[in-house]
Amino acid sequence: MHEQAIRDELTGLYNYRYFQKVLQRDFALTARGKSDYGCLIIDLDHFKKVNDNHGHAFGDMVLNSIGRILREEARDTDVVARYGGEEFVILLPDTDIDGSIIIAERIRSRIESHLHVDGVLKKQVTASIGVSSFRPHNPKTPQQLLFFADKALYRAKSKQRNRVVVYS
Ligand code: GH3
Ligand code: MG
Ligand code: MG
Repeated sequence: MHEQAIRDELTGLYNYRYFQKVLQRDFALTARGKSDYGCLIIDLDHFKKVNDNHGHAFGDMVLNSIGRILREEARDTDVVARYGGEEFVILLPDTDIDGSIIIAERIRSRIESHLHVDGVLKKQVTASIGVSSFRPHNPKTPQQLLFFADKALYRAKSKQRNRVVVYS
């Protein structure tokens, strides 16, 4: 029952509600301590086209395999959640900005090189990733940490996508 309440059905990742809870709690802990805390927002590029070209069920399958990639690339202590539709978020406790960038880049490159889905896809699936971090960006609220990552994501989208952008 508890697992069902905190998981996203399609991907098995944490759901939006659970992610918000963890973020609130971790934010307070991070503010009191000295360690850094990273946040990645991952949005698939032109995902509407994947659905248009291959159907919604196929799109769901792609989302499921993206979920698997994110879980494999993240550490056990990271929180990987489906933020909504084709957007995901990863919280990285005890990780400085350089560490967050390394993980983001690893995810970006893995999605780019691995998602051919048995040669069925007409075009590679790629992702844009926005990165924010507690220490350098000094957010005042948990929502602001997210907002910073989202701003960076927006810049990644306007720069031809398939890239990692850090908030500044
Ligand atoms: P962009 O590169 O700007 O992000 O383009 P996009 O097409 O990914 O962005 P947009 O936000 O316009 O569209 C997101 C699309 O993702 C809309 C919908 O077709 C698809 N989508 C959202 N949720 C689901 C889902 O649960 N399953 C499937 N198959 N598709 C979904
Ligand atoms: Mg989107
Ligand atoms: Mg998208």
